[in-house]
Amino acid sequence: MTNDRQPIYITPENVQRTLGRDAQRNNILAAKIVAETVKTTLGPKGMDKMLVDATGNIIITNDGVTILQEMEIEHPAAKMMVDIAKTQENEVGDGTTTAVMLAGKFLENAEKLLDMKIHPTVIIKGYKMAAKEAERAIKEDISVNSENVSDVVLKYVAMTAMTGKGAENDKEKLADIVVTAIRRVMDNKTVDLDNIKIEKSLGGAVEDSKLIDGIVLDKERVSIEMPESINNARIALIDFALEARGPEGDSKISINSPEQLQGFIDREERAIKSMTEKIFASGANVLLCQKGIDDVAQYYLARAGIYTCRRIAKSDMERLARATGGHIISSLNDLTSLELGKARIVREVIGGDNEKMTYVEGCDNPKSVSILIRGGTRHVVDEIERAIRDGLGDIASVVKSGSIVAGAGAIEIELSKKLREFANRLNGRERLAVEEFARALECIPSALAENAGLDPIDIVTELKSQHDKGEIYAGINLITNKIENVLEAGIIEPAKNKLQAISSASEVANMILRIDDVLAANTKPRNTGMSRMGSLGAKDFSDGM
Ligand code: ADP
Ligand code: MG
Repeated sequence: MTNDRQPIYITPENVQRTLGRDAQRNNILAAKIVAETVKTTLGPKGMDKMLVDATGNIIITNDGVTILQEMEIEHPAAKMMVDIAKTQENEVGDGTTTAVMLAGKFLENAEKLLDMKIHPTVIIKGYKMAAKEAERAIKEDISVNSENVSDVVLKYVAMTAMTGKGAENDKEKLADIVVTAIRRVMDNKTVDLDNIKIEKSLGGAVEDSKLIDGIVLDKERVSIEMPESINNARIALIDFALEARGPEGDSKISINSPEQLQGFIDREERAIKSMTEKIFASGANVLLCQKGIDDVAQYYLARAGIYTCRRIAKSDMERLARATGGHIISSLNDLTSLELGKARIVREVIGGDNEKMTYVEGCDNPKSVSILIRGGTRHVVDEIERAIRDGLGDIASVVKSGSIVAGAGAIEIELSKKLREFANRLNGRERLAVEEFARALECIPSALAENAGLDPIDIVTELKSQHDKGEIYAGINLITNKIENVLEAGIIEPAKNKLQAISSASEVANMILRIDDVLAANTKPRNTGMSRMGSLGAKDFSDGM
């Protein structure tokens, strides 16, 4: 654009545009920063992050996806990195840090090739070939497969997932809980994790956490006049309030005399009484309600000896229906004995901090369990929950596929070696991209070592030489700080973890590499989220492009 002519605007004035190499550099830098941010949390010796939101809420975590979600990232390319973590979390439930780090490294290495004037299209082609070969190599050469994975292996998978997540001291016990939970709910090789409810209760120690055969609700019975426990429970599940004025009843009434008022109250009481009578008539001895329950209704329910809880979360109501075989009723006219759920016992249990909970145990559907997490503070129980969710995701994946790999950097080094061999068979510039892809995988063992205070270069070099000698399971065990056969040491991960991480990381890297033009509407000042990223806003394209 020359200065002596009128500028032509093809987009609104507030749209910032970055083009070509600048756009690429910008995006790659943003992606690298995101990867760099989570890097220090990787592995058993990774550090935690403390995230404080605008209202002062504090989260202390080591979990990649949680960190990125809480960071409120704004840069568009950085957001794509966050999406990798989310996909990883949804598809496998673990390996989020790994996936994000790989994407960052793929881009960092691509930048070297861009500097050598290799066209993005060539890099993308090479990366695609590498990703495909990686998938093949993991599936056919590297992973260990078995038809029926033993509990011992599953337990190691769970422990590997939970290592370094605040669950450290109790990970054996937690791993047992996680494996038992999965075994209970699994159906032929599929596991519906929705059947495992996680409930947290403050107080006590992490080691008091336990598996409960049924569903745990963080609700007490509405009145102490009600029985504390009911054997052979017949459970009515209702999703509306037991109050005289129904949902439509917010209408105004005018009352002009005490008699009118009394009449009104009597009418309301009668309405409520007739509602409770419908519940008694169904034969229910437990009532679980999603909404509120009026005092008068409570009185009648208590008098009839019905164990009642109110304001139960919708998701729990759905779980209860599945577990007890009952149906959630939206009108009392539909309530018959056929709609009731069944459980061996429903009882109130006093948990930590004198908090009362309700256990619905021995449900009609045995594939329904709860994991009750205990711990001294909210931060502890929250982080244990994330560790347990990682463990559950990993075991579910191994149960399904029967396919595992050795962790602790072993898989990455072996794969890197295989990809280099593959590159040697290629001609053309794509070969350079495959080599960079292979080198990028080393960032995992390197970061594992670095986070544990070991020398990353020494460790990676030693690992490579062991793998060259055919030690395909050599990894850096950070419990013993030794390079050893980590498969034997029980550092095992689902193959799916790595397959998914590599495929989504390379997809996003390719997507970012393909962008050479960023048009961003400037809607609001970039002052939230990462301040470092704030300076990465698009530059005006008119300066010297
Ligand atoms: P991610 O979010 O990617 O799952 P983690 O912080 O959970 O990140 O770390 C996972 C990495 O830690 C994996 O590469 C795994 O193999 C490794 N790891 C787990 N336990 C050990 C161990 N005892 N020694 C070395 N590495 C381990
Ligand atoms: Mg993990």
